[in-house]
Amino acid sequence: MRATDIIMKKRGTNARDKDGKKYIATKTELSPEEIKFIVDGYTNGKIPDYQMSSFLMAVYFNGMTFEETGALTNCMLHSGDVIELHGMEKDGLTGPFIDKHSTGGVGDKISLPLAPIVACCGVQDPMMSGRALGHTGGTLDKLESIEGYNVNLSPDEFRRGIAKDGFAMMGQTPTIAPADKKMYALRDVTATVESVPLITSSILSKKVAEGADGLVFDVKCGSGAFMKNRQDAEELANFLVKTAQAMGKKAVALITTMSTPLGRMVGNFLEIEETIECLQGKGPEDVMELTYALGAEMIMLAGKANSKEEALKMEKEAVSSGKALQKFLDNVKTQGGNPELLMSQVGKRRSKFHTTVVAEEDGYLTLEAYKTGIAGVYLGVGRNKSDDPVYADAGFIVHKKTGDAVKKGDLILDVYGKDEESLKSAVKIIKEEAVSYSKTAIEEQPLIVKEIR
Ligand code: URA
Repeated sequence: MRATDIIMKKRGTNARDKDGKKYIATKTELSPEEIKFIVDGYTNGKIPDYQMSSFLMAVYFNGMTFEETGALTNCMLHSGDVIELHGMEKDGLTGPFIDKHSTGGVGDKISLPLAPIVACCGVQDPMMSGRALGHTGGTLDKLESIEGYNVNLSPDEFRRGIAKDGFAMMGQTPTIAPADKKMYALRDVTATVESVPLITSSILSKKVAEGADGLVFDVKCGSGAFMKNRQDAEELANFLVKTAQAMGKKAVALITTMSTPLGRMVGNFLEIEETIECLQGKGPEDVMELTYALGAEMIMLAGKANSKEEALKMEKEAVSSGKALQKFLDNVKTQGGNPELLMSQVGKRRSKFHTTVVAEEDGYLTLEAYKTGIAGVYLGVGRNKSDDPVYADAGFIVHKKTGDAVKKGDLILDVYGKDEESLKSAVKIIKEEAVSYSKTAIEEQPLIVKEIR
C-alpha cells in the first residue's frame, strides 16, 4: 500500500464526460485497511505532515461514509490507551457508564451540575473533559478554579472516583487517542477542522476511550457554536449518533441553541458558583432545562427510568433533597479540593479589576454569544493558544440577555478582568460587537431544537 494511492482514491479523479464538461463522480470510499494504513503511518511518523494534510483536505471535500467514519474512529481510538471499566463490579464499578459530550459554547457549564445529578439517579459517569479554547469555555479550567482540585487523574484514580462518588472528572492524557492529538493539530493549521466525519472521529475516539457504554451529545447550533446553522448541526448529530451506535455504544443527540450565553455566569470560578446555585435549586431556567433534559437522556440510556417524565422526577428529587449538591462536594473532596472553603467563597471570589456595561438605549437586547466569548478571552476566561494561562476569577455576570427589554442605563453585565487593560478590550468588543438593540421584540428561540435517536 502507498499513501499516495490512498490520497488519490479519496481525492477522486478529474475525469470529464465525453463532451468534456461535467466531472464524472468516482468512488472515493476507502477500505478499513486503507484508513488504518494512513492513520497508523501518520501516528508513528512514517507518513509525513504533507501527505496527511492532502488526505485531510480530500476528506474535507469528498466526505466519508458512516462505515469509513467508524473505521477512522476505531483506528484513532486504538492509537492509544482505552480505559477499562467493566469486570470490576466488586470494586464498586457497577455501571452502566454513561457520559455526555457538548460541542461547546459560552457559559456552558452543564457537565458540572449534570454529573452529580445523574450519579444520584444510579448512573456512573466517567467524565473526560477539555480545556477552554477560542471563544468556548472548558470544564477542566472551571474545575481547576477550585483550590486544590486535581484533574490529572491516573486511570486507577479515575476508576476509584467513579466507584466512590458515581462520577469522576479528568483531562485527556497524552496516551489517550494520540492520533487525534496529532491530526487535530494539523487540521487546525490546514483549514480542515470543519469536516463532519473528521469532527465525529475526533470527538468519538476520545469519548469511547474513557470507557462509556452510552453517550448523550449536546450538539450546539448558533452564533456561539461550532456549527452555526441547523443543517450542519443536524448532520454532525446524525454522524455522532450513527457512528457511536456502529461502535456498539448507545447514543442520543440533542440539538440545542447557542446564540446567547447560557445561564447568568461566564467565567471559571463564576461557573462553579452557578453550578452550586443549580444544585441548590436556584439555577437559571435555561441551565436547569438543559441539564435536566440531557440528564433524562442519560438516565434512560442507563435503563434507570422508563420515561422522560420518570427521569425528570428523579433528577428534581436529587436536587430538592440536597443529595446532588452533597455528591458534588464529595467529588470536590475526592479530587483534592476543600468543600467548606469552596462554599465559603461563593459570592465573594471576584477579580478586583471590575467594570460594568449598561444599556445605551431603550429597546430589546441582543447579547451575541460568540463575541461575548471572544471578549471573555481578553478578560482571561479563555485562551487563544492551548498554552495560554487562564484566570480563575475573571468573567461576566450577565444581568440581561437576548430578548430582554432594557431601558437606557440598565445594567447588562458586570465585567471582571485579569487587569485594567483587559477590561478596556473586553468592554470595547461587547459594546461594539456583542450588544445591539432592536425596537421590536425578538422572537424567542427554543433551547432544545431537536432530538436525534
Ligand atoms: N472537538 C474535538 O474534539 N474535535 C474536533 O474535531 C472538533 C471539536
